[in-house]
Formats: sequence, structure tokens, C-alpha cells
Amino acid sequence: MTPRRESPGVADAVLSVRNLETYYGPIMAIRGVSLDVREGQIVTVLGANGAGKTTLLKTISGVMEPEKGEILYGGRDIAGAEPDEVVRAGIVHVPEGREVFPLLTVAENLAMGAYTRRDPAGARDDEEMVFSYFPILKERRRQAAGTLSGGQQQMLAIGRGLMARPKLMLLDEPSLGLSPLLVSEIFDIVGRLNREQKVTMMLVEQNAVVALDVAHYGYVMELGRIVMADEARLLLESKDVQEFYLGVKEETQRGQKRWKQKKTWR
Ligand code: ATP
Repeated sequence: MTPRRESPGVADAVLSVRNLETYYGPIMAIRGVSLDVREGQIVTVLGANGAGKTTLLKTISGVMEPEKGEILYGGRDIAGAEPDEVVRAGIVHVPEGREVFPLLTVAENLAMGAYTRRDPAGARDDEEMVFSYFPILKERRRQAAGTLSGGQQQMLAIGRGLMARPKLMLLDEPSLGLSPLLVSEIFDIVGRLNREQKVTMMLVEQNAVVALDVAHYGYVMELGRIVMADEARLLLESKDVQEFYLGVKEETQRGQKRWKQKKTWR
């Protein structure tokens, strides 16, 4: 990590991404993304399949290395830092598809989340904190994670992330594959964790309605670029966002071309 020279654009931003570019070989997946995550907020990044949301989170968490740009966090540029260094700095990534350790128990999975910590007593307290938000995990603490339902695995993935006592949590599509009831339960808890545990969140979602409902601020991403940014409640009311999601619906119903050809963002 290199020391930062100038101050970021938004005064109370915990994370500022500037002109980020990330490639898969010759394919440019992130095309000059800039965004800010304010301390204490939930910031959502919306976008269809393949927009680049996962790649963006992987670049912030150090799983992928950017070709260009800055990731300013805590007064430093962490672009290209190793994933464990990023975790130690206070950023945890809860990946898409949960990715819990299936053969380990719930308790062992949670313990893995605390691997960077040197305060066993604090980690034990945080395990109780996780259980207070997800009581089902306490009931199943000795059960192999692979035998949990999808919703319980998502709770475990978030719980494991919390065990690192993050300042910033990167959440990749927690709604994926879950019933509407579970989605609303998990998003309620995400909102509570933000308010009560003061975890700043960057939430990547395709489910715009639930994400904008819990978030303070939102960005819309398409083809590797940010095409819209506003307060979450304004995005929710925005005709463009509503039309975007109607467009997606029309596409699946009638097998028509992309909405973008009807609606221009840029
Ligand atoms: P999803 O909701 O499906 O996860 P996303 O918005 O997170 O979508 P990414 O997974 O970040 O999108 O993908 C961004 C672009 O990078 C897409 O065009 C995708 O095809 C491409 N891509 C993703 N993973 C790879 C890979 N391993 N190799 C090559 N191209 C990839």
C-alpha cells in the first residue's frame, strides 16, 4: 500500500474508487469506475448480469489486480494490495454464491472469519453478536455448513465476515437464489448491522428494489461503467431506473433486444 497524497473527493468517504480499470486478459471488465462510499452508509451498486459488479468488488478486496486507477481507503491507495492485507485493513468481502467451507461446522466457519484477529476474547464476544443476529446459526453451530439451506449459508457467510470486525463490508448479491421472504429477512438484518454495529456496506445487487430500500446511496453500472448515481430514494423513484427494470422484464417476456437500445443513459 502506498501513502496517499491528496484528499478524496467526498470528505467523509471511507472508500473512494478513482478511474478504476480491471481486465480479464484482453477483456476490459471495469472501464474507468469512480465512486465513493461514505462512512456509516450502505451504498449499493446495481446492474444486470455481467455489468462488472463482482469484478469491482474483487478488485477492491485484492482478489483481482487493477490495470489502472486508485482505491483510496483510510488515507492509503490499496489498489493491488493482497487480499489478507485488505482484510487486516478492515475490509471484508462476502462473495457471491456464499462460498462457505461446506465440510467445516458453522462454528469453524465463523472461527475462519476471525483468522486475522489476535484477541480471542473479542472474537468470542463477536461470535455471540453474530448469533444474536442469526439465532439459527447458534442452533446449528456444530452442523457442517454444507448441510445448511441457501438462506442459512448466506447468513453464515455474512456472519463469517462480521467475525473480522470489519469497518467496511463488501456484500455480493446476498439475494441470489433466495425466496422473497428470506431476502427481506436478510436485508432487514443488513440494515440493522449497519445501524447497530456501525458497519459501512457496499452492496452489489440485481434486486434493485430491496437494495435501494436498505441503501442510502446507489450507483447503476452497465458494461463496466457507472451510468447513474444518486440518493437511493431518488433512484427508486427515478423513471430511468423503473424503466430499466421494466425493460429487463420485457426482455424476458418477449425475448426482445436489450433495454439499452430503447433507453440511452449516456
Ligand atoms: P453477475 O451478476 O453475473 O455476477 P456482474 O455484474 O457481477 O454479473 P462480472 O461477473 O463482474 O459482472 O463480469 C463483468 C464482465 O467480465 C462480464 O462481461 C463477464 O463476462 C466478464 N468476466 C467475468 N468473469 C470472467 C472471467 N473469469 N474471465 C473472463 N471474463 C470474465
